[in-house]
Formats: sequence, structure tokens, C-alpha cells
Amino acid sequence: MIHSPLFPSSRRRLVWILALLLGLVVGMWQAAEFARVRALGELEEDAENELRLSAANLQGYLLRFDYLPPMLATREAVRRFLASPQSQNPMPLNMLLDRFRFTAGVSDVYLLDREGTTLAASNWHRPNTFIGHNYSFRSYYTQAMNGQPGRFFGLGTQSLERGYFFSAPVWLDDTAPDATPDGVIVIKVLLDEVEQSWAEQDAELFVTDGDDIIFMASRPELRMSALYPLDVAERDMLRRTRRYAMEPLNYSGIRVDADDNANGRQVSFEQGPLTGEHYLSLTQTITEFGWQMHILKPLTPVARAQWIAALMAGGLYGLLVLGGGVGWQRWRLRREREAFAERERQTLARVRDELEVSVARRTRDLVASNQRLSSEIDERLRAEASLRQTQDELVQAAKLAVLGQLAAGINHELNQPLAAIRAYAENARRFIELARTEQADANLGQIVELTERMAEISAQLRQFSRKSSERHESIAVQTCAEYALRLFQNRLRESHTEVIQTMPAEPLWVVGDLVRLEQVLVNLIGNALQATSGQPAPRLILSAGSEGDVVQIRVEDNGPGIDEEHLTHIFEPFFTTRAPGSGLGLGLSISSRIMKDLGGSLVASNTDRGACFTLTLAAGEPPVEPPAQPLESRHA
Ligand code: ADP
Repeated sequence: MIHSPLFPSSRRRLVWILALLLGLVVGMWQAAEFARVRALGELEEDAENELRLSAANLQGYLLRFDYLPPMLATREAVRRFLASPQSQNPMPLNMLLDRFRFTAGVSDVYLLDREGTTLAASNWHRPNTFIGHNYSFRSYYTQAMNGQPGRFFGLGTQSLERGYFFSAPVWLDDTAPDATPDGVIVIKVLLDEVEQSWAEQDAELFVTDGDDIIFMASRPELRMSALYPLDVAERDMLRRTRRYAMEPLNYSGIRVDADDNANGRQVSFEQGPLTGEHYLSLTQTITEFGWQMHILKPLTPVARAQWIAALMAGGLYGLLVLGGGVGWQRWRLRREREAFAERERQTLARVRDELEVSVARRTRDLVASNQRLSSEIDERLRAEASLRQTQDELVQAAKLAVLGQLAAGINHELNQPLAAIRAYAENARRFIELARTEQADANLGQIVELTERMAEISAQLRQFSRKSSERHESIAVQTCAEYALRLFQNRLRESHTEVIQTMPAEPLWVVGDLVRLEQVLVNLIGNALQATSGQPAPRLILSAGSEGDVVQIRVEDNGPGIDEEHLTHIFEPFFTTRAPGSGLGLGLSISSRIMKDLGGSLVASNTDRGACFTLTLAAGEPPVEPPAQPLESRHA
């Protein structure tokens, strides 16, 4: 069976709700029970006190009259009248008894003769006077006639009022108390007054006799009723005593709901004025009269206390549950927060660890690649150094190549003066032999001139073959062009090449190296001479000018120009269109390289009449030291 994930939690919630409700019910019930026991206890205590007090009151009230009959029995007037009732006027005694009744606060006072017939009575003047009535059936009469004080309670046969009767025997002769009494004096006390005082109490009070007949009660309706239902025999027996005359003695309707303890009982009424209410009933025996006094305290305060306690317990329980719920929620929230923080901490720690690991790995990689780069750089530096060396060697080789090209010319240059010197020397010798010293001297002068020219040629060659200083300095373009042209002086002359120089009169300063720039110009001029060698009117144009912060030098010729297809290749090493043995194909590549090293450039193009090579260099400042000297002056 598949449970939805919500199911257990909703079932748990239901269980919780049920448990809380059960707790609420149990709590309220317990509180109500506790309050009930307490309130009942208090009520019982109150009832007990009230009952005790009321019983004592009743007893005290009645016993107050206990001594009156014996006292009255000894009165002379009573005895005198009793001695000869027929021969006397009863009025004085009647009056006396009435006064006595008034003074004692009783209902009636009357005197019975030996047969129980009333001789005199305080109510002599009332229509229902006792006078003439016989009460020998009353127990108070028989008790008194037995020489004992008598007591009785019941309904008066005449008045039909409930009363308590006290009687005492009357002896004409006090000295013989054992003799049969001569009469009986009776006083009757009404019970209404006591009952009236009960009405003020917050309880119902009633008194039952030995037959459980309620003859006194705070509620008039309860009076003269039977506490428990009477059967026919009991009713007949009571009728015979005439204690309650012909009263129906109906059932009071009381019903015992619960026996709290030996004394207290909870009762209610099936009928009558007290129906609908529940009472706590307590009973106390008044042994003096053989009665039982009952008190009924309404149970309303108990019920109220129960309700209040239950509601308070419910409220308190609610508060506790609410507080508990809030506390639990807060605790849960805190726990969740802590768990979240812990998770965060763990995640952070993991991320940090991972980061550290990856940083370490990266660092290792970086160190490795750094080492690799370092070694590569070293290698490059080494390669560069060897390249530079190779380059230098190539430059040198190119120079030598140029020198080789020049060699033939130089050879011619040197051979010619040498032959001239030889001729002049031979002539000089002949002139000396002929003593023509003047001509001899002129020939020697020619020889000197020729040797100077040879020295100049030699100096030019040395200058060209020297190694560069590799120092960038300010050099004048015009000087450099002059040096280069001078190297080709003879070739230019012999080939009848027209040299056109278009340069400003002021020195054009460029940043460079005189030897290297001269080498470039020599290469370019050499190429131009080669290109124009077949031309009828060969021409070489050298021009220079500054444009902003750069200086441009142009070497042009009126040769055939460069083939378009060759233009992109002529700067490549070993590219040549010349016949094998006459060109290395290194001149332009080295020249271009030198220009780049000097921070400039070399570009080839074709003009409408031939080839044009443009050198571009950064313009330089005029040097503070004197400019480089021309070759002749340096080697003079
Ligand atoms: P080389 O002169 O030994 O051939 P270079 O590098 O000096 O080597 O020249 C390369 C090639 O460029 C030449 O073979 C030639 O074809 C071409 N060239 C150079 N200068 C000129 C020029 N002034 N006119 C025409 N072609 C030229």
C-alpha cells in the first residue's frame, strides 16, 4: 500500500488534536470534579452549621416553655379552683391563665380535670375555646396523669393549628406527689414563629417526627406531608392517634439522587414547590423531642463552581496549550534554523575544501606552466640570440657578397692606378736619366696623387666591411647617402649613370645606425645599378624628406622595374632573378631586416619608369656631439 507523504503527518496531527481535546476534557472534568468536591464540602459545612444552629434554636425556643406548666401547677389559684370547680366562678382563673399566656408568649394555657375535660382556658373568650372539651386522648394528659411532665406535638383539634404542648400534673396536696394528680395544666406553643425565622435563610428547613411526617417546614406547602410515601396501615395508625387530625399527609415528593456520605445526600423533588432544583440534604436528630431536623441547601453554587472551575481550567489549558504550541513552534524554528546554519556551514566547508583543492591544483598547474613558460622563454632567448648571431653572420656574409661584387671593380680601381703609377715611375726614371727633373717631379706628383686615390679606395672598403656599433643614434641622411654613393663612384662614372639627389640643404636627422643604413643604401644603389646596366641613359634618383615625425628616403632607377609576381617575394631570403653566381638573393631580405631593427620599414614599388624603394625611419633630434665624420676624414 502506498502512503502519501502527507498521510502520516496528517494522522499525527489528528492524533495530537484528539489527545489535546482529550486533555481538555479530562482537565475540565477534573477541575470541575475538584471544584465540586470542594464546593460540596463547603456547602456541607455551611449546611451543617446552619442546621446545628437552627436545631439549637428550635430546641431552645421550645425548652424555654418547659418549666412553665410545673410552675403554673403550683399556683394557688389553680389548685383552689381545681379543688371545687363547680362551686367557683372560672372567670378569675380564665383571666389569670390569659394573662399568663400573654406574659409567657404562648398560644394557649388551659387546665384539665382528672377526666381530661377543660375547666379553664386562656381562650375562654374565643368561639373555639377549649373549655368543656375533653383531651384525655392526648398523650400529654396521660403522661401528666401518670405524674410526669408531658409533651406532645400535633394539630389542635379545635384550632387545627400545629402546636407543641407541655403539660404538668396538678396536685391539690403537694405533700403526696405519688397520689393520682387532681388535674393537668397544659400550655400550647405555636411553631409558626420559629418557621418564620427560617424563611430568611438561604436554605429549606423542615422537621419530621418519628413517623417521617413533616410538621414544620420553611415552605408552607411541605407542612403536613409525609417525607416518604405512606402505606395504608401507617396512614390508619396515624389517623388513630389524631395527632394530625384528618390531614391527608401526602407524599412530599422528595427523591434521593445520591448519598454523598453518611449524613449528606443529594435530593430533588418529584413534585411540589421545590421541583426542578437539586439540594444537598443534611439531617440532625433532636433527641430531646425525638425529631429530625432537615436542611436542604440548593446545589446551584456547586454547579456554578463546577462550571467556573471547568471554564477556568479550560481557559488555562488553552493558554498552556497555546503557550506550549508557541514554544514548540519557536523551538522547532530554532532547530530548523540551526540545522540550516549547520547545513550552510557544511556546504561552505565543503566548498572551501573543494576550492582549496582546486586552488592547489591550479597553483600546481600554474607553477608547472610557469616553469614551462620560463624554460620556453629561456629557449626563445637562446633561439633569438642564436638567430641574431645568424643574422649578424648573414649580414656580414651579405656584406662580403657585396664586397665580392665590388671586388672586380675594386680590382680595376686599384689596377688602373697601379699601372699608371708604374708608367709614371718608369717615365720619372727616364726623365731623371735625361735630367729632366721638372717632368720627373711632375710624374712623381702624379704617383703621389694616385697612391692617395688608392688609399681612399682601401679606406672605403674597410669602412663598409666594419661591424655595426648596434647603437641607435641621430644620423644625417645626406651623410649616409654620400658615403654609399662614394663606394659606387667609379661604377657610376663608368656606366655613365646620372645621379639625381633631391635632398634638403639642412641635415635630415633620423634615428638609426650609420653603418647599417649605409649598408641598406649600398644594397639598393647596387641593385639599381644592376637594373639599369642595360639602359641607354641609366639614372639613379636619391631623394629624402620628412613627413611629420618620420623621414622617407627614396632610391629610384629607370630600370625595368620589378615583376608584379616578384613584388611579394623579393624580400624573402635567397630570392633572386639573377643568374646563378651573380646574386645571392640576400640583399633585400637583409636590408628589410635592418630597417625593422632600426624601427623603420622598407617598401618596394614600381614607378612608371622603373623600381622605387622607400625607406621610412623615425625622425631624430640633432646630436649634441658632432655628427659622424665622412669616411675620408675619419681615415685620413
Ligand atoms: P640579388 O641582387 O643578389 O638578386 P637582392 O635581394 O638584392 O638579391 O634582389 C632580389 C631580386 O630583386 C633581384 O634578383 C631582382 O630580381 C630584384 N630587384 C632588386 N632590385 C631591383 C631593381 N632596382 N630593379 C629591378 N629588380 C630589382
